[in-house]
Amino acid sequence: LRPRYAAVDIGATKIGVAVGDESGISEKLVEATDRTRGPLGIVSQIVRMLRSLEHRGLRSIGVGSIGPLKISEGSIVGTPNLPFKEIPIVEPLMEEFKVPVRLINDCSAGALGEHVYGAGRGVDNLVYVTLSTGIGGGVIVDGHLLQGKDGNAHEVGHLTIDPYSELTCGCGCRGHWEAYCGGANIPNYARLLLRGREGFVGLLSELAGIDLGGLTTEIVFRAARLGDPTAQWIVEKIGEINAVGFADIVNVYDPELITVGGSIALRNQELILGPIERGITKHLINRRPEIMITPLGEDAVLYGALALAWRYQASS
Ligand SMILES: [Zn+2]
Repeated sequence: LRPRYAAVDIGATKIGVAVGDESGISEKLVEATDRTRGPLGIVSQIVRMLRSLEHRGLRSIGVGSIGPLKISEGSIVGTPNLPFKEIPIVEPLMEEFKVPVRLINDCSAGALGEHVYGAGRGVDNLVYVTLSTGIGGGVIVDGHLLQGKDGNAHEVGHLTIDPYSELTCGCGCRGHWEAYCGGANIPNYARLLLRGREGFVGLLSELAGIDLGGLTTEIVFRAARLGDPTAQWIVEKIGEINAVGFADIVNVYDPELITVGGSIALRNQELILGPIERGITKHLINRRPEIMITPLGEDAVLYGALALAWRYQASS
């Protein structure tokens, strides 16, 4: 029997599982996250999903998860995006499958996936950034995956852009990058930019209501793609803030390569990368790296979790 490894991607809205080996993913399954049955419901969903894939000869399991994590306990603790205080992951999966289980932050997994399977092969200094409901990062410096004391290094979405900002982040702080450019907050930023002009903003008023009460991130980008000048201006402003965030990352970690994933970036590749390319240089002290959309698409975290599984198994 060929050795097989399992990968799990735990997100607030979706859970993905896969099996595979050093050469890649051979089978995968994605479902909506079951938020209705408590923390153990999450675990039993993962178990059921993994059991539905070919799992004979399973050697180990790698998990990339939304944070914050407590790596020493093998659990997710107090995540703002799921209604549970603590979700134990490592213990219950170990008991169920009788194999080693290793847990890391989903963006760290994304960076590892890029390094092992993606655009970062042979690149020892790289950062993976996800622009999605929230903003996160995973970092490899000198070939080492950086993790921090609890596994929560690189919460780059919570870098402060403006401490006096009117925009409050989901974490409760003022003026974080995510408060402007996270998918959950882009409508707030757009309404701030348009304050006093509601009802006079053409297509956006048509799509989101005269007071822009129905404004969503999807509407902003859709209107921009349709050529609406107001929406394009908002997208440019979002890009100006993203350029600051990316420049901070370059100034702190000095990567050769930044790859970008997450639903907002994957669906709006040019509208996201263009303004960053144009705006980043004026904030940089370090040499500018290559910045690109991840070739692994929505599977970057799963690939990283898979790499975590066989690398860990090999070293233990
Ligand atoms: Zn924050």
